[in-house]
Amino acid sequence: PETVLVGSLPISTFEDLDEAIGVISKDNLVLPGFAVAVNAEKVISALKDENLKACLLSATLLYADGISVVKTIKRKDVENSRIPGCELWVELMRKVADSGQSVYLLGASEETNKATADKLREEFGVHNLTRRNGYFEDEQSIVDEVISLKPDIVTVALGSPRQEFLIAKLREVHPSAFYMGVGGSYDVFVG
Ligand code: UDP
Repeated sequence: PETVLVGSLPISTFEDLDEAIGVISKDNLVLPGFAVAVNAEKVISALKDENLKACLLSATLLYADGISVVKTIKRKDVENSRIPGCELWVELMRKVADSGQSVYLLGASEETNKATADKLREEFGVHNLTRRNGYFEDEQSIVDEVISLKPDIVTVALGSPRQEFLIAKLREVHPSAFYMGVGGSYDVFVG
């Protein structure tokens, strides 16, 4: 896909969700990486905060999830569609059900996190799954768990930018996974 600079962030442009799924997977396997949904708030925060900018630039895929980002790209004469993070995550889970890759589902309340895991197992057929709610005492326990489990896919619902900073840290200890921050996606999924 064509990449367009919005603020300081190089955004990959896509015609549709399928095309986006195509770049994060190959031969039915989800590939290692770090995908970030970009909206206007992230563009502005990255311009103000060097640490956040570096964190977001460490991602392997930045995609437009926010109508003002989509419009900014169109004004540069590049066709693109909004890729809602929540929908990308659902399609990712369908891929994972097919591939049998392992998932670490982190974040949201215990109730939402458990309901998300149950729905993924029962309705999607995602069975290789470990879950942890987003109200943990110390981050190191999450880092340790990722080191010992070595999941193939890690999705993090803590809100931004906290989820992106944690993902950057997890990638240092376990770089071979695919990571994505999903904000309120689990709540939407089970809501
Ligand atoms: N959350 C969490 N731990 C916290 C604070 C928030 O797990 O300490 C969860 C919260 O339950 C929700 C998600 O993080 O599921 C954040 O959703 P929000 O809609 O704020 O994120 P956005 O999509 O706006 O980034």
